[in-house]
Amino acid sequence: MKRIVVLGAGYAGIRTVKKLYGSGIDAQIVLVNKNPYHYMTTQLHEVAAGTKEPADITFDVAQTFADKKNVQVILDEVIRIDQDAKSVELKNNAPLQYDYLVNALGFESETFGIQGAEENGWPIIDINTALAARKHLEDTLKRYKTSHDPNDLRIIVCGAGFTSIEYLGEIVHRMPKLAKEYGFPRNKVKIDCIEAGPKILGMFNQDLAQWGVKYLEKKGVTFHVSTPITEVKTNAVMSNDKEFPANTIIWTTGVHGSHVIADSGYDQKRNRVVVEDDLRVNGHPDQFLIGDVSGVPNPDNGRLFPTTAQISIAQADCVAENLVALMNGQPTKKFVFKALGTVCSLGPTSGIASIDMFGHWNLKGWIASIAKKLIADRAVLELANIRTMLESD
Ligand SMILES: Cc1cc2nc3c(=O)[nH]c(=O)nc-3n(C[C@H](O)[C@H](O)[C@H](O)COP(=O)(O)OP(=O)(O)OC[C@H]3O[C@@H](n4cnc5c(N)ncnc54)[C@H](O)[C@@H]3O)c2cc1C
Repeated sequence: MKRIVVLGAGYAGIRTVKKLYGSGIDAQIVLVNKNPYHYMTTQLHEVAAGTKEPADITFDVAQTFADKKNVQVILDEVIRIDQDAKSVELKNNAPLQYDYLVNALGFESETFGIQGAEENGWPIIDINTALAARKHLEDTLKRYKTSHDPNDLRIIVCGAGFTSIEYLGEIVHRMPKLAKEYGFPRNKVKIDCIEAGPKILGMFNQDLAQWGVKYLEKKGVTFHVSTPITEVKTNAVMSNDKEFPANTIIWTTGVHGSHVIADSGYDQKRNRVVVEDDLRVNGHPDQFLIGDVSGVPNPDNGRLFPTTAQISIAQADCVAENLVALMNGQPTKKFVFKALGTVCSLGPTSGIASIDMFGHWNLKGWIASIAKKLIADRAVLELANIRTMLESD
């Protein structure tokens, strides 16, 4: 029996295994993940801001596949892939041989080599980092009552991409409650968002982007555009000679793919590999790369599609079909992606959205936040099972 090894139980990996199992394929399917749980990365900012708990956005990977007899889950960390030997090196178990590999190891925080970013910035990339960022913020705000250090009430969010904006939306929502709980003056809290580029929310049209920016500004966020970060100190962010002091520095400037990609000798850029039309790796017909470790050129403009949960899930569907085709000696199909739109939450009760389903819709306010919630719930429904979705509220 052939062995298909899937690396990573994120959106891409879990969805691949579910689809492969559902296809009735006659193969042993092995899923490797370093944590016993899957976490919904699209909601990590809520854990980091303290508006959700880890249990709200995670589910048990082994339990999801417990009754699937040809699916085996291995909880271990992937160290390297030996592409010629068709073998995956694991931290605690013996090397794992594969006939076909689906690499879906996901993303890590990008520091762009900026001095001090790794040491002094709090990233939001998984459950542990989200919880660490939350604890640091809460401890620092709590300390103000005795320290009276104005920097304890200053928060800097580095970068103004999706994660930064969604985090800001949650944190401004929670701030009045935190002020009450820890006894600090809400009006002395200073929240700055520092962005190197000239625009905030540039992926939306001007009207939606301006609405989102004004919404956050009204709630106390100050945006600094065209302000490249040059250094991150323990209690300040530098942009050339300009200093922004703060005792909480959230590092959400962007992501790159898993370091395992570079460590395994792939032809990569920022740990992403540009894949073939059918999502296989050039020169390795037994390997597929999907999710945030893959790069898929957009035929409309030649640029790579942004890495999102949405494209990861669509890739997983295509890979499962292509693996079934390969096993049956049939040709693989080309991956074609049509984005369904973009939704950015601005806290639990607001957001902006540009959706391409049943026409084109630009949404602002509470209706956009409902769209985001429906999308999140749909992901749980499709990745785990209906019981999990019903229990998630
Ligand atoms: C705060 C936030 C909000 C976002 N919001 C949205 C959104 O609204 N919509 C959207 O479409 N996208 C959103 N994204 C992007 C989206 O989350 C990613 O594109 C998506 O998670 C990529 O899925 P993936 O399966 O490739 O990787 P991941 O979700 O990163 O999953 C990778 C898996 O591999 C495991 N793993 C990693 N390294 C190893 C190793 N060495 N050994 C074993 N296991 C390993 C990890 O534990 C994880 O389970 C958001 C991202 C963030 C951070």
